[in-house]
Amino acid sequence: MNMPRTIAALGLALLFMASQAITEACLAGEGFTWPNGARAAVCLTYDDGLDMHLDNAVPDLDAVNLKGSFYVTGNSSSLARRMDDWRAVVRNGHEIGNHTCFHPCNRHRDNGDVFEWVTPEQNLENYNIPRIVSELQVANTLLYALDGKKERTLAYTCYDHTVADGQDFIDQIKPFFLAARAGHPFGGEIVEDMQTVDLYLVPGFEVVSNTAEELIDFVNQAVKAGTMAVITFHGVGTTGDRYADLNIERQEHRKLLAYLAKNRDKIWTDTFIKVMKHVIAERKRLGWDK
Ligand SMILES: [Zn+2]
Repeated sequence: MNMPRTIAALGLALLFMASQAITEACLAGEGFTWPNGARAAVCLTYDDGLDMHLDNAVPDLDAVNLKGSFYVTGNSSSLARRMDDWRAVVRNGHEIGNHTCFHPCNRHRDNGDVFEWVTPEQNLENYNIPRIVSELQVANTLLYALDGKKERTLAYTCYDHTVADGQDFIDQIKPFFLAARAGHPFGGEIVEDMQTVDLYLVPGFEVVSNTAEELIDFVNQAVKAGTMAVITFHGVGTTGDRYADLNIERQEHRKLLAYLAKNRDKIWTDTFIKVMKHVIAERKRLGWDK
């Protein structure tokens, strides 16, 4: 046996194995990892604090032991009437997030549309930055009284983060939130890159009467990329409340949840705050953020 040649061959084999491991690590997102070997994270978010969340969305989630994030407005009538039910949602491990007090939005949209339902006092175009900052702080205090939690995430109302004269308020609200969901009003997008995604503009997919299949396709884009997918729901089910055009059918909601539950080893479905805390920790570990 020629020892030097054997050692050289062994060395080459080891080198090859190492380079393969490095290539795989790069494909998974340059060293970024999800807990327990999951390939992607999914956040199910529900906006506006509706009875349909308490009556339909939460029972569907609880049935398969998945956790969601509920972005409740301070003036939600459901919150006013059923505060104990909302407290129970938090005790179940779901998240209640900030969605302002009065749901202000820009009346005039970038695409030329006008939101007729936006009243003058609710029009973000009539706000200045101190006013929206203090409204968000009041909403945080209200939610603290509800669930005793000091860390909070935000979902911008109508995905808007500008006030009068188009001034952006993101920088001013960073001290009060761990992360914020931007959403996407037309269609949706996964997070493309865990290193560069803006923690205060995390994109998502807005459900507009979609089927489970369409949402599963969206989720699987994130699995392929090794990143995360955020879904924004309004109504769940077809009876009660408004938003008929945004609602997802109850059975489609259940189908999506069943898929996520079946694939829980591959897909980490959890609250936006838990997922974003992991993202923040990973980015620090990898030296991407200070
Ligand atoms: Zn909303």
